[in-house]
Amino acid sequence: MPLTLSAIRRLPKVDLHSHIDGSLPPSELFRIAKKFHKKILTPEGRELDSVTAVMRYVRGDGYSSMLENVVDRFYPITNLMQTEDVLKEAGSAYVKSQHLEGVQYAEGRFAPQYHTKEGLSMEDVIASMADGLEEGSERYGVKVNLIVAIGRESTSRFGEAVAAAAVNSKKAVALDLGGPEADNPPERFRKAFELALAAGLKSTVHAGEGAGSIEQNLRNIRTAINLLGANRVGHAVHLVRSDSLVQLVKAKSVVVEMNPISNLVLQKIAALNELGLDVLLRKQVMVSVNSDDPALWPRGKLSQVYAAVCRVYGFRTKELGRLVENSISGSFASDHLKADLLEDFSSAFK
Ligand SMILES: [Zn+2]
Repeated sequence: MPLTLSAIRRLPKVDLHSHIDGSLPPSELFRIAKKFHKKILTPEGRELDSVTAVMRYVRGDGYSSMLENVVDRFYPITNLMQTEDVLKEAGSAYVKSQHLEGVQYAEGRFAPQYHTKEGLSMEDVIASMADGLEEGSERYGVKVNLIVAIGRESTSRFGEAVAAAAVNSKKAVALDLGGPEADNPPERFRKAFELALAAGLKSTVHAGEGAGSIEQNLRNIRTAINLLGANRVGHAVHLVRSDSLVQLVKAKSVVVEMNPISNLVLQKIAALNELGLDVLLRKQVMVSVNSDDPALWPRGKLSQVYAAVCRVYGFRTKELGRLVENSISGSFASDHLKADLLEDFSSAFK
């Protein structure tokens, strides 16, 4: 029997790569805005007064150019989240959205630097978001951890400040590098990642998604692993094309967070089978499937991503199980929580 969307929705899942701001459905943004008497605005101060207007703004002149202008495109969302109460509400709403997808454990990520316009420090921002995640976790029964991201258009020194805020907050499990990849290669952030790793944080790096050329994408994955000590890499769209890189990923036990629908919508691939998920699984690469920005992509919710992957690759329960198992093993959860998740998962997949 092929796996149906409703069957996939019911199975316990894990999301390792989702941006909190890109996971909040626009209807939730309006609920939050109303509750705290805020408006949803463009960088020019124009009010966006409907779900359609928000989606139209985020999409801009097309998804293909989104990554290059990602900070602006997300502005209506990040600009709303500038106070402790709104950040907390957003954190809780993120957990709710994961709960609705049958996710049992999620690692939500966000970049605190876009939330300090009204005077909060990055530590305050991280603490408020962590509080919201905790509240949501209690309410919806989803286990969560927080990943703090650096927007890579920043200077190296600013990246270190973000890493320090993540460390000092004691609320984050890992440091991430996100934002526009073209012209912002990972090497600029070597010190930031050294600082985070020395303080006991884990690391994940967006690499090989939108660097501009296949060569630069592959180079960024290699740099993320060799220079930044990345425990995981996000996207790694062309990984399957380089056998030496596949060998490096395996040798260093790097977990790959793939985001198939995101790559398709942003036109980083022309078809889902370009990612070579079947080949990577066969080569025993620790590859996982994730949602990235599920509220912003058409048919981009995690269950829909899995359903599309299963359809294109002809995956059945066995392969789906492997992918979810990789997500659990590759997560930054405690060993105890991983064991619990693996147990729940194996009984559900029987
Ligand atoms: Zn991402």
